[in-house]
Amino acid sequence: GQCIANCPTGALHERDDTERVFDAIFDPDTITIAQVAPAVRSSWAELLDLGGKPPTPGRMVAAIRRLGFDYVFDTDFAADVTIMEEASELIEHLKEGAEGPMFTSCCPGWVRFAKTRYPELAKKLSTTKSPQQIFGALAKTYYAEILGVDPAKIFVVSYMPCVAKKMEAAYPGMDSTGTGPDVDAVLSVRELTRQLRQRFVNVDLLEEEDFDRPLGVATGAGHIFGVTGGVMEAALRTAYNFVTGENPDADAFHEIRSEGPERGWREKGFQLPDRTLRIAVASGLANADALCRAIERGEASYDFVEVMACPGGCVGGGGQPIIEGFNLSADRGCTLRIIDEQSELRFSHENPAVKACYDDFLGEPLSERAEELLHSDHGDWAMPFRVTADGTEA
Ligand code: SF4
Repeated sequence: GQCIANCPTGALHERDDTERVFDAIFDPDTITIAQVAPAVRSSWAELLDLGGKPPTPGRMVAAIRRLGFDYVFDTDFAADVTIMEEASELIEHLKEGAEGPMFTSCCPGWVRFAKTRYPELAKKLSTTKSPQQIFGALAKTYYAEILGVDPAKIFVVSYMPCVAKKMEAAYPGMDSTGTGPDVDAVLSVRELTRQLRQRFVNVDLLEEEDFDRPLGVATGAGHIFGVTGGVMEAALRTAYNFVTGENPDADAFHEIRSEGPERGWREKGFQLPDRTLRIAVASGLANADALCRAIERGEASYDFVEVMACPGGCVGGGGQPIIEGFNLSADRGCTLRIIDEQSELRFSHENPAVKACYDDFLGEPLSERAEELLHSDHGDWAMPFRVTADGTEA
């Protein structure tokens, strides 16, 4: 209930895209690719009976594969790519001595809010696309090249904790190949649950399976994108490496996670070799509003700010399962933190599949090709949109 009430899109009646996805899956000429967002692995089985088995990411992969996709990949791979770009952007931002903070831009609810309410601050949004959109762009270019197929034959489906992601996929400029949107359909976790029931997938019999490769390889830094403070922490791990040439302790920035924001958001200063980096993290639009107001009035000043529209981050997203009387976002956030702690690799820049993608295809972060495929000018599309009852924008 609370999640829907807080849904930043105002799209209380979500559009059901499950049939369109099944049409693509059953079309023998279409190559169907699923990508699964970080926060989905923390909640996918909440409305399913797994017969006592733990709802691990491996069982989630097996369940989604049973729907008939050709490939099941991980949005968290693209989250690692987002970090490569965004950490590089942050370093440029600091070098230029720019006024005011750079803001994260991977949450379309926040981007939309910033553009409507704080247009001056919106000019400082990171241009790096969200993991969902980076995945779509790479699936239809880099991966199409690996497969040796026309990108028009590829149909990308996102499983997201979010309703606003349906709109993000339709924004202008999100068509990298001229063959249609990079992400063809976006389904919520509730729609995933519905699909598994429609196809009579015996989730209680599933054994764990791995994501497909290479776009299914991800690090702990990618997994924490789904919880408030996660994008900031992942970006700092990599920015520190880019500046010093060495890795910090993977938990060096753990203070970002601590509870109890004083003014509705959390703020910290971290000592880098040559300066103090001042950061702030907010989740929930009321908190984001208070933070933006403080920045505009000069009552607060930061170098880098993360904002997520939903309370607790995507774990509290409007596309998550709803269980009346329960708010599960804190538990889901813990699940993502544990997955990070247990990950073999915890730095985005150490992801071998990401390294291969740069070596073979993108070149360096912020290269011409990276700018073209992985960045977007938020000024491209006008605000405000009118949201219609089926969740689309007119
Ligand atoms: Fe979507 Fe996550 Fe932003 Fe909520 S916090 S609007 S779920 S991207």
